[in-house]
This record gives sequence, C-alpha cells and structure tokens, in this order.
Amino acid sequence: MSAPRPEIWIKTTSAGLYCQPGDFYIDPLRPVPRAVITHGHGDHARSGNDRVLATTGTIAIMRERYGEAAGGSLQPLAYGETIAAGDVAVRLMPAGHVLGSAQVVLEYRGSRVVVSGDYKRRSDPTCAPFEPCACDTFITEATFGLPVFRHPPDTQEIDKLLHSVALFPERCHLVGVYALGKCQRVLALLRRAGYEAPVYLHGALIKLTELYESLGIRLGPVLPLSGVAREALRGRIVMAPPSATADPWSRRLPEPLVAMASGWMRVRQRAKASGVELPLVISDHADWDELTATIDEVGAEEIWVTHGREEALVHHATKKGYRARALTLTGFEVEE
Ligand SMILES: [Zn+2]
Ligand SMILES: [Zn+2]
Repeated sequence: MSAPRPEIWIKTTSAGLYCQPGDFYIDPLRPVPRAVITHGHGDHARSGNDRVLATTGTIAIMRERYGEAAGGSLQPLAYGETIAAGDVAVRLMPAGHVLGSAQVVLEYRGSRVVVSGDYKRRSDPTCAPFEPCACDTFITEATFGLPVFRHPPDTQEIDKLLHSVALFPERCHLVGVYALGKCQRVLALLRRAGYEAPVYLHGALIKLTELYESLGIRLGPVLPLSGVAREALRGRIVMAPPSATADPWSRRLPEPLVAMASGWMRVRQRAKASGVELPLVISDHADWDELTATIDEVGAEEIWVTHGREEALVHHATKKGYRARALTLTGFEVEE
C-alpha cells in the first residue's frame, strides 16, 4: 500500500491546520478540544484549548501569558520524544525561533509531514537550534519569503548598536523589541559581544525575561526602568516593546535614540515611517536564503507554504521541481 497523500490526512480548516486521523489542530485560531502548539507567540499559542501538547518551554510561556486560561490540561513533550495520537505519531523538534519553539513531525501510514511553525537557521543563544527533519511534505512559514530579504549577520547589527552607544554617550538608546524572544535574544547577543552594563527594561518585558532566566538562559544584569532617574539613563540601553518607542512615552528618556530590532528593518521606508533612527536587522524568522536552503535540505517532494509571502516561495519551489502550494491560513501575523 502506498503512503497516503498529505491532503488526505492534513486539512486546512477555518480553525487552522487539522490532523484528521490524530484528531488535533496545530496552532488553532480558536479554542479546540486538542491542540498542538508550536511556540508561545500570541498568533500561534492562543488560550482556551481543552488539551494542549507543547514543549516544556512553550507551556511555561503560555502559563505566564494566560494563567488558568492557558488550557484545560497542558501536556509537555520533550524534543525528540514521540507520542501517539490515534494512528499518528507526533514528535516535536527544535525550530530555533524562540525558547521552546518546535516543528511538529507527524507520521501516518508511512507518510511524514513536518509543520515548521516559525523558524530560523541562525544560531541564537536563547533557544535550541533548528534541526532539519527529512520528510515527504514540508509545511513552511514564509514571513520573509521574498529574495529581497537577506538578513545580515546579527553580530554586525549588535556592533552597530554598541558603536552608536559609544559615539553618543549623552543619549539614551531605546531599542524596540518584541517581548517574547527578541528581547532576550538581543540581551544575550549584547552579552556575547562583551557588553556588561545593566540594561533597563520596560515593564512589559520583565516577566518573560525572568522566565527565560528561570529556565537557565543567562541574560546578564537587567533592571526595571520604572523608578530610575532620567539622568541616570544617559549612555544606557533601554528596551521597550515597539509600540512604546514612539512618542510620547519615549520623551521621558534623556535624548532618546530610537533603535528597532526586527527583520522588517531591512525595509528602509518602514524604519523611517516608524521614527527609527537606528534600524537593526535582527530577525527570528528565516530569510529567503534560509527558507530556500531548508526546503532543499529536508528532501520533501511536496512543499506547503503558510503565512507570509507565499507566492514567491511557491513559485521558486515549483520551478525547482517540487510540488508546491500556498495554504490560505488566516490569523497569523507577519509581524515578528
Ligand atoms: Zn513566532
Ligand atoms: Zn508566526
């Protein structure tokens, strides 16, 4: 008997990707009886599912964010371990995106499908590196699925920040970062580059940063921003969610120089429009080269492309001889 085609057992539904023989959804858009969650970002990990399967890291993040509403029962699965859901074998493998992030590896009657979730291929001191898994069908994200997106080395971007801090000792550097993943990665990269001074955090970044620390990720001295005298922040680095980098919040800082760490900073107009003086192209998503290399590496015959710039990647994969299609999944943000 030949292996079943993926569309026979993996369905796109209004609630998201559904694995029929296993009777579970992956990153569902609305509460479902059984969910497998790839990682803790809000557009993938939603509250209110009856049963949740995810890595220990993702479960800890969901508990932190949602409390009791994180799910009726939360079942942790270690990377590389396999469990059965109906006739389907389920395994979680590192995706290299944020702490706890996983690809979902599914096997059913000799057919293997990998759902990548969000991923990147660069080394990140705050999470386990992406592990390519051979499969028949690879379901990939495509946030930066255009050839124009080629992220520079993150060391180069961190050097830009440190150079600016050295150049303008009277100014406060305000770095916009997302609360889950980007904040902690930028902290770790600063430490790796030898920056040892305390970094001041906006209140919205503190809990998840503490969670990372409690899970063994060393991020160096961080201090809450609240209560710190304005003048004490000259020459310092302050981190805040992107929304807070805009006036008027930032005006409480001494001569703020606004930086932003995001893959979108590759788009100059975007940086300008959001008032960013120092764009830092640091992304937790694969860039074009990472996406295309990964497709080749996993050796799948079939490529399904989820959220982001599906068309260009589908076109590229088709040209290279893969059977490729865009899934019209809604509800995922292409923001980092
Ligand atoms: Zn994500
Ligand atoms: Zn996403």
